[in-house]
Amino acid sequence: MYNYNNLYLKNIMFNYKDLSLEEFKKRHGYILDGIWYPRVTSIVDIKSKPALYYFYAAAENFTEAQNKKREAAYEGTIVHEILESIVRGKEIIVPPEFIGFKKGFENFLKNYNLITKTDWIEKRIKHSDYRYSGTFDILAEIDGVFSLVDIKTAAEVYDDYRLQTSAYFYALNEEPILLDNKNRKIILSKNVEKRYILRVNQIQICELCGAKKIVRRMGDKIKGGDNSCQHKFGEIIDDWEFKEFDNPEEDFKGFLACKELWEWEYRDKLKELGYL
Ligand SMILES: [Zn+2]
Repeated sequence: MYNYNNLYLKNIMFNYKDLSLEEFKKRHGYILDGIWYPRVTSIVDIKSKPALYYFYAAAENFTEAQNKKREAAYEGTIVHEILESIVRGKEIIVPPEFIGFKKGFENFLKNYNLITKTDWIEKRIKHSDYRYSGTFDILAEIDGVFSLVDIKTAAEVYDDYRLQTSAYFYALNEEPILLDNKNRKIILSKNVEKRYILRVNQIQICELCGAKKIVRRMGDKIKGGDNSCQHKFGEIIDDWEFKEFDNPEEDFKGFLACKELWEWEYRDKLKELGYL
């Protein structure tokens, strides 16, 4: 039974037109070199994501779904911090509930030769011609090839990640200037050749049927195995996947189409801003 109080109703009925221009700018973009640019993640949000319907349908109610999304976002932030500390060579204490992620990164680094530096981690970029901005996760030499890596904690590598990473890929190669959080400029002197998703999950395997339980803050998810099994799950282990995306041209076309639609959706605010 759905039980909305006024606050939640307000959330559902949320209309971006009620945002002040300043709130809209903050929520959807960055100001870089004094100019406002929409963020890649906001732009690709315009695309319908069918998996989200299942997520909302499976939730008890709207509040629960919102809480789960918040938990997932929190987990994502921590996981990014863990990997960044590891590749920076910093000593970190990882809380027990995140130990599987740490193992995953360590195992990934045993399989690939990754060389990075502080200047290549979590920097802002923009594309002045196409007028968008974003923050990438990691640039690194991976087995000798200069590459862009985006970290995901979702249960699988979704095709939608192609849109986001192609936008970063083109910005990096066509305007190779990275900005740190003090807006200091770092010039990138080489082309990004490849782009990857590093997906990391913590899992437990059922000793009886082989089902895979993905252990998450937002709630566990069981994949495969036998439905009638009285699962007996083993210790928490890591599960990681390093996936390259080919054909950036095709994905960038898709991204620009998203951007076109995004501009239409927010045309009133964007005209007020002078962006359109
Ligand atoms: Zn089982």
